[in-house]
Amino acid sequence: MATKRIAVLTSGGDAQGMNAAVRAVVRTALDRGAEAYAIYEGYQGMVDGGDRIRKMDWDSVGGMMHMGGTIIGTARSEDFMTREGRLQAACNLIKEGIDGLVVIGGDGSLTGANLFRQEWPSLVAELAECSRVSSDEATNYPNLAIVGLVGSIDNDFYGTDMTIGADSALHRITEAVDAITSTAASHQRTFVVKVMGRNCGYLALMSGLACGVDWVLIPESPPDVDNWEEVMAERLRAARKAGRRDSIVILAEGARDRYGNPIGSTQVQQALEERLGEEVRVTVLGHVQRGGRPSAYDRTLATLLGYEAVTTLLSAKPEDEPVVIGMKSNRMTHLPLMECVQKTQTVAEAIAAGDYEKAMSLRSASFTDAFQTLKTMVRALPHTHEDDRKRFRIAILDAGAPSPGMNTVSKAAVRLGLDMGHVMLGISNGFEGLAENEVEEMNWMSVTGWASRGGSELGTSRLVPTGSGLYAIARFIEDNEIDALLVAGGWSGYEAVYNMTANRGNFPAFNIPIVCLPASINNNLPGSEFSIGADTALNSIVDAVDKIKQSAVATRRCFVVEVMGHWCGYLALMSGLATGAERVYMNEEGVTLKDLQKDVEKLTRGFEAGKRLGLMIRNEYANPIYTTGFMCSLFEEEGHDVFDVRPAILGHLQQGGDPSPFDRIQATRLARLCLEFLIEECEKGSDHSAFIGLQSGQIKFHDMRDFERMVDISCQRPKEQWWMELKRIASLLAKLSPETEL
Ligand code: ADP
Repeated sequence: MATKRIAVLTSGGDAQGMNAAVRAVVRTALDRGAEAYAIYEGYQGMVDGGDRIRKMDWDSVGGMMHMGGTIIGTARSEDFMTREGRLQAACNLIKEGIDGLVVIGGDGSLTGANLFRQEWPSLVAELAECSRVSSDEATNYPNLAIVGLVGSIDNDFYGTDMTIGADSALHRITEAVDAITSTAASHQRTFVVKVMGRNCGYLALMSGLACGVDWVLIPESPPDVDNWEEVMAERLRAARKAGRRDSIVILAEGARDRYGNPIGSTQVQQALEERLGEEVRVTVLGHVQRGGRPSAYDRTLATLLGYEAVTTLLSAKPEDEPVVIGMKSNRMTHLPLMECVQKTQTVAEAIAAGDYEKAMSLRSASFTDAFQTLKTMVRALPHTHEDDRKRFRIAILDAGAPSPGMNTVSKAAVRLGLDMGHVMLGISNGFEGLAENEVEEMNWMSVTGWASRGGSELGTSRLVPTGSGLYAIARFIEDNEIDALLVAGGWSGYEAVYNMTANRGNFPAFNIPIVCLPASINNNLPGSEFSIGADTALNSIVDAVDKIKQSAVATRRCFVVEVMGHWCGYLALMSGLATGAERVYMNEEGVTLKDLQKDVEKLTRGFEAGKRLGLMIRNEYANPIYTTGFMCSLFEEEGHDVFDVRPAILGHLQQGGDPSPFDRIQATRLARLCLEFLIEECEKGSDHSAFIGLQSGQIKFHDMRDFERMVDISCQRPKEQWWMELKRIASLLAKLSPETEL
């Protein structure tokens, strides 16, 4: 059988992460023995042919993962919209012998892909008829296998939780809104920030939630009253009166009123100026949102999807319908391309027809959840409760090392708890603070501005109380009449709560509902695929590694970068995947001298073949003997004068930084669910204690007693770690070119 030839193109609006997808497609194809082609300038390149369709080798996609945009170019092609254009495109593909195509683009590009696939047999027949291809060629290419990947910053595509580029766009928006917030607060000013999203309010909604803004206008849910401008202004006025210094409104470009009239930024600006009697500034973020380096998540997402696209193409039967590969509940999914395109367009049609309920119903559960939460978070003050429901006293504390997003948890818990009519208590400095009775009642404004701040405003400690420590804690739980406890923390927080529940017989004060919310950059907690803070840490690592790589452009140098994680290799592996590191060392797999020997040989071969940079990522506890220093010395000695070696121990920068949008969104979501859990248990009079987590897209509560069963205590990590299976893909993509790799 002839060798498969797989081509990849990027089309429509560019999106950060497209380069990582192209790299993964090319390298996976080559690794599997297929030939790889890149079609430059999208569909236009396919129509033009010639040097726009280029054969790629392993190294032609090196060093591009960190770049924004798409280096193979994209275009909006009028020619491809015509049958004549598609006929020429089919002819070019047949002449190049291409029989598999990966299209990376938005719904427009994928609609085009579907049409091309449906027309293919008739295009081939026509080409044969007018002798533009031979009858042999026509027989050899009866079908074209197509896989679509969604590259779009809007996150507006049905069938995938995230599109390539959406997370990076959210990064750009939150950076901008955080920056605007600080200037707005300095001058007590109001800003209207316009973000992209013609038919999808994802970016506006999620950035609004992540930045703790005052008001959000999205296409799926227009204001439900005619005098919405008055309601919005009143909300902003009330927030100022309550002590807030800045007022921010986020407006999606496709926002409209309930009659379908578009709402523009000038309209919002004027409405607010008239009512608030102050100057209102407008910032239109525009193309900034598309630009810049891809986030860690987009690099990994695009890499995994690119890998899967080729795997799918290579096992496709000629008659298979085109599929789109997406990510649902943190797992890759294959769905019929046309169905997804149609459902995506249904949302736009529903919005155009004013059927907002339908538009909302086609969005994911997390979208509608986030919208509900946002409605409470943007209130100037909590609802007043005049009924005689019991008001519970709910305490929150941070435990373990600081993790970005802990403050977001506190803010969400305090506001949502107060809004439901309960008393919220903040405990300073973790369990150590509780043992010293550092407990204070929190109010609505005491958490203003916390959503976006790194570190832990409450203060945290690693203390795991035992013996007499438990006694002090029990006493102050009783003294403060604490009915329920929310612990946001890492391993030591979980251990502390486990100890408390195991000692309930001796301390009746512990017979209250307690819930642990995973907040640790290490991502080493049971029952949860992501812990709050890990995404921020990953982005910090990826940023640092990008810079380290740049510092070495002119030399033949190998870096050994040490990252945190204790005994859990999550940060090491995921940052390796996102930066294209050739080797990841982690405790789960161990390190042997043989491994190191092989790695030195591989490095030497690579550098001798012209490679300029080596990148090895080592988890801090990968091996107690083969430390980062040891590895560097070994590589340096064995590398002779072929290459030199530098260590880079990233240290505490990984625990700091403002939380990433993903961490803020998850923190808010989990805080709300934890609070609902605690209130429900309090109402039942139960003392159920649990830890919450996101698993396969589902939020689950596990009984605290399952903690020991689910973890490997000596290594402080879960027995099952979902991400271990990604090691295979990381290793494949980081190989040397097949000629250099032995
Ligand atoms: P996006 O893919 O980002 O939604 P567009 O909607 O602009 O961007 O589509 C990009 C390109 O895909 C178009 O310029 C065109 O070449 C092709 N395309 C879009 N829709 C169709 C269609 N219905 N038929 C054929 N080609 C299409």
